[in-house]
Amino acid sequence: MNSISIFLLLLTNLFIVSKLHGQDKLLVVTSASIFADMIKNVGGDLVDVKSIIPIGTDPHSYEPKASDINLMANADLVMINGLDLEVWMSKVIRNIKINQKKVVILTKGLQSLKSEDYANSYDPHAWMTASNGLIYIKNIKDALALKISDDKRKSVLLNNYDNYRQKLVQLDIYSIKRIKEISSNNRKLVTAHDAFQYFGREYGLQLHALQGVSPEADIRINDFQNIIKLIKANQIPAIFVESTINPKVLENLAKEASCEIGGKLYADSLSDKNGGAPDYYHLLKSNLDTIVDALTKQSTQIKTQSNSNENIILYSIVFSIMVGSLLFLSVKI
Ligand SMILES: [Zn+2]
Repeated sequence: MNSISIFLLLLTNLFIVSKLHGQDKLLVVTSASIFADMIKNVGGDLVDVKSIIPIGTDPHSYEPKASDINLMANADLVMINGLDLEVWMSKVIRNIKINQKKVVILTKGLQSLKSEDYANSYDPHAWMTASNGLIYIKNIKDALALKISDDKRKSVLLNNYDNYRQKLVQLDIYSIKRIKEISSNNRKLVTAHDAFQYFGREYGLQLHALQGVSPEADIRINDFQNIIKLIKANQIPAIFVESTINPKVLENLAKEASCEIGGKLYADSLSDKNGGAPDYYHLLKSNLDTIVDALTKQSTQIKTQSNSNENIILYSIVFSIMVGSLLFLSVKI
């Protein structure tokens, strides 16, 4: 056998091995990068995960391409958030008649919130707390377990799930502890779009957003003016921009209301590898730390007020000393 034949044989073997390996993995297709990361953590090497919506893109207004539909048709499992996030994906599932047994709703069993802006629809942003994340990853584990028959691969799945579950449980404990640092007066969160209702319900924060649950809606001048009034009346120290939404309007709002931009929050997408939210765990941690750090700072309005109070005390002391000295001198004379 000459060297060219050996090379060709090795190449063929390599092709067969990689094909077998590929067949071993379950092809899981999901909508957003956040869910893809959860699925990778639970499924590990047992799954090949593809997310349809590119990182940094708004999932509410995504328009599917022909290749997305092909991908969904060929998947072993299609995992969606549900709660009206991927309305376009549900339409594709119906139109191309994807077997319902292949479709996994990641928010199944979770205590959902109704949308505050649209009648008969839900707020989809349930992934914004670690305790809800635990429900997502249980649904992922249960769906994968049904597709895996051999014990060895099943134990790998359960092991992955337990490790990831522990990580999110620890993050939940950390979150509850950190939120206590914010004074009850400052527990008000002003954001670009209404993606933090689940976060607010979990940690006792009041939510105010310029736009509704979907950033596609137009901002009304009245809403803008009302939020300025609210920030000033409550001396809210900081408001927050979001990674998938143009920060310009929020920056103008901060200027008009004389408050600070507390940082960037990640709601509907992970960041790239070098950003603050390269995975779901860090998305939650980054949001929490950004919010707590900004809302525990004293408001610039409170600072100005307390500075002027300090000045009044200082002037009073100086005045008293001067009057005292004059009296003392007049008595002596
Ligand atoms: Zn959203």
